[in-house]
Amino acid sequence: MDNMFDIAIIGAGVVGSAIARELSRYDVSCALVEAKADVGTGTSQANTAIWHTGYDAKPGSLEARLVRRSDALLRQYVPEAGVPFEMLGGLLVAWNDDQRKALPGLLERAHQNGDTDVSIVSAEEVYHREPHLAPGALGGLWVPGEAIFCPYTLSLALATQAVLNGTHLLLDHPIREIVSERDGTYTLRGPGGVVRCRTVINAAGLYSDEINRLLGHRDFTVTPRRGELIVFDKFARGLVNHILLPVPTAITKGVLISPTVYGNVMLGPTAEDLLDKTDTGTSAAGLKALWEKGEAILPELMREEVTATYAGLRAATEHSDYQIHLYADQRYVCVGGIRSTGVSGCLGIAEHVAELLHGAGVTLTTKGEFMPVRMPSIGEAGLRPYQSADLIAADPTYGQIVCHCERVSLGEIRDAARAVIPARTVDGLRRRTRALQGRCQGFNCHAALVAGLAAETQQSPERLLQMEADHVG
Ligand SMILES: Cc1cc2nc3c(=O)[nH]c(=O)nc-3n(C[C@H](O)[C@H](O)[C@H](O)COP(=O)(O)OP(=O)(O)OC[C@H]3O[C@@H](n4cnc5c(N)ncnc54)[C@H](O)[C@@H]3O)c2cc1C
Repeated sequence: MDNMFDIAIIGAGVVGSAIARELSRYDVSCALVEAKADVGTGTSQANTAIWHTGYDAKPGSLEARLVRRSDALLRQYVPEAGVPFEMLGGLLVAWNDDQRKALPGLLERAHQNGDTDVSIVSAEEVYHREPHLAPGALGGLWVPGEAIFCPYTLSLALATQAVLNGTHLLLDHPIREIVSERDGTYTLRGPGGVVRCRTVINAAGLYSDEINRLLGHRDFTVTPRRGELIVFDKFARGLVNHILLPVPTAITKGVLISPTVYGNVMLGPTAEDLLDKTDTGTSAAGLKALWEKGEAILPELMREEVTATYAGLRAATEHSDYQIHLYADQRYVCVGGIRSTGVSGCLGIAEHVAELLHGAGVTLTTKGEFMPVRMPSIGEAGLRPYQSADLIAADPTYGQIVCHCERVSLGEIRDAARAVIPARTVDGLRRRTRALQGRCQGFNCHAALVAGLAAETQQSPERLLQMEADHVG
């Protein structure tokens, strides 16, 4: 492989993958360069997975514009690519007088942002929609466009489509040094190898400030803002019909309660600034604070079993808006500070980046063919392989269940290990199939998954277990 590319994108989270997909429409050679062993393993895998409409974004901000544009693009892309989603609508609940007084301002903001379906609803309407809510709600804001989707599948779909359309995906390639050569090209170096390119796009998430500094810019610093979440068992699903949104603040969108596309209910996230960009552990204090919020919003939820807890880190900066800047003379685009809305905003961001490059004189000629992508059906609302008699008749491995909590079949494990971007680790299987995500968290199926993946990937089970212990992929 010639390692000189027209464009190198650093970071294969949802944002970098969306940019790679967008650029793969054009006749340019492109490398998607990722430090980890898989795509979508940074903040893009640990969030609340709400498909935001951008109703509450600051009007006039870049974030407001791009999330709104992305919403329109996602409405076509998500069903087309088979990304699991459910159009539940969001119900923002006011619990005190100050919050109730904030509703007209939020409505006005939503309308300014072009989300004109949003309306104020009475307390009666709130309880009609959500009968299990705690007493004391004073009214609410109905945001019909807010939805839930699968963040794992979205990143994988975007990166897979990019690869299908010619993008070179370079995994295990952390970039530590960027050399600006005399001929105007760049050499990107790290322990995974050398990548040369003419244009650099920085989509490194939590590390976007560090890549920015390697290119001589110090206009923002990323502070990891931890958000902790609690996932409840599927028996809780009947307690909530919509995404229960809080009144947002300047710091955070606040603690919400929402169904997930896998049939669970989640509560979170918290918002706490940290110093360590790798600290994705949960804390007793964070979970206690969530528990108290949960009791105040949906008390019956707190009597249900907890399936898992997790935390993600937002790439917060000293600026409230996205830090997307083109340095035309350097042929460099920084796509940093994508704090709280990157999953929702990814397609709008990608389109914007392509426009910036075009404006900077990078020739983007549309290719004759742009291959579509279709991802496996892992959402609770869609038809899963174990439910399809036709599929099982054609291939009985889709009826051989390996993960019984999430009903994941041997056929799906095999498909994930043979995908365009294959699962190389057990965690990669989890994000592609749902295996390990259920009640037992892998207690019953872990050994079978390791054995199945080892057989498919020609790696020893010991090696896979070591990779898991090292948090690879
Ligand atoms: C708790 C929480 C809740 C959230 N809820 C939502 C929500 O409901 N809806 C929504 O739209 N958004 C939500 N977000 C925000 C969303 O998750 C992020 O905006 C989005 O995932 C950012 O994507 P990214 O690609 O920029 O970053 P990442 O996913 O972190 O990807 C960056 C990638 O760059 C790689 N990388 C870094 N440095 C290098 C290097 N030197 N060399 C090579 N690769 C490198 C990393 O390994 C990583 O894979 C939430 C975030 C959190 C934390």
